[in-house]
Amino acid sequence: MASRTRKRTAKANRARLQRQTQDANEQLVLSSVRQHERADAAEDLNSRLQTEIAERKATEEALRQAKTELADRAVQLEALVAQRTAKLQETIGELEGFSYSIVHDMRAPLRAMKGFSDILAESYGAKLDDEGRSYLRRIATSANRMDKLILDVLSYSRVLQMDLRLEPVDADKLLRGILESYPDFQEPRADVIIEGGLPEVMCNETGLTQCFSNLLNNAVKFVPPETKPHVRISVERRGQRVRFWIADEGIGIEEQHFDKIFEMFQRVESSYEGTGVGLAIVRKVTERMGGQVGVESERGHGTRFWLDFQAANK
Ligand code: ADP
Repeated sequence: MASRTRKRTAKANRARLQRQTQDANEQLVLSSVRQHERADAAEDLNSRLQTEIAERKATEEALRQAKTELADRAVQLEALVAQRTAKLQETIGELEGFSYSIVHDMRAPLRAMKGFSDILAESYGAKLDDEGRSYLRRIATSANRMDKLILDVLSYSRVLQMDLRLEPVDADKLLRGILESYPDFQEPRADVIIEGGLPEVMCNETGLTQCFSNLLNNAVKFVPPETKPHVRISVERRGQRVRFWIADEGIGIEEQHFDKIFEMFQRVESSYEGTGVGLAIVRKVTERMGGQVGVESERGHGTRFWLDFQAANK
């Protein structure tokens, strides 16, 4: 009886062991399959990563090449621009010299016209009637006007070529010198005063003389007929800048003309003598000296021109 029971127990144990071994085998097979699957996935990922790295490297190389090409192109372009600028400047210089000599040569036939019309008036004036003499006068006036125009164009052209080296300029001394040199800026013809002392500015003496002279000429010119011009010159400190004011009590300018009057040959008042070049010169010279020019005015209530420059540091 005991032996039969032992046999049954042993059989049951064997059966359980068999099941456990089978389960363990199944688990082993399953885990081996999973490992294969993972290895495949890892290989796949790895190959994708390799491709990506290769692509990135290729992109980086292309970028580096593009950068090098761009830098080369920039250097080439800069050289080309410098070369063309030099050529352009050379051509401009030649053209300026050419037009200067043409304009200069135009004065010779003009002088002949003026001279012969003077001789005609003196020697044959008595033989002409009033109408004939009037024509002669008009020829002389036109020739004079043409000559003034040529002289102004020549001085504008000189301004373009002038070497305007900047240095401290004593504006007070310079301005008083101008006032003393021209009777048109003195009593009894005009009342021009300088309010206070004027400082030193970073300018060019010739350039500043030209600006002050042109502005003063206009200030005493554009007054109603038979009126004595009154002009005040003052200074305003604006930090590192100095602003000169030239204020007259003349006919004034309407605001719509403020920009136009600084352009070449632009005039508002044709009943006054002039060529429309003076203010164009002032603007060009001022800008070439690192300064600025402007105007404030009201028709019939005088005009205030200003010139703005860097103060000379002392
Ligand atoms: P121009 O004096 O030979 O006419 P400008 O270039 O000096 O030429 O001046 C241009 C124009 O600006 C003048 O014709 C005039 O109409 C106006 N203008 C300049 N300065 C004054 C001033 N101080 N008062 C009134 N008008 C002025």
